Amino acid sequence: MNGVSASYICADCDYEFTPEDAGDDPRCPKCTRTEAVEPADASALQSDIWRQWLVVFALLFIAGILYMVYE
Ligand SMILES: [Zn+2]
Repeated sequence: MNGVSASYICADCDYEFTPEDAGDDPRCPKCTRTEAVEPADASALQSDIWRQWLVVFALLFIAGILYMVYE
């Protein structure tokens, strides 16, 4: 365990939460299921950040093209 995040995500109702007691078997507060709950791992967060950067680069690219066209 690296202790980056103690949050979990429920695959059943897509609800992210942080359990009060960080036990082995966290329960979803929405649907009270335990089997669909997975750790909200950092890799998903990482890809989210990459997607944001991709949008930024795409906007810069489009802005550059527009600048060259209308200059
Ligand atoms: Zn749930």
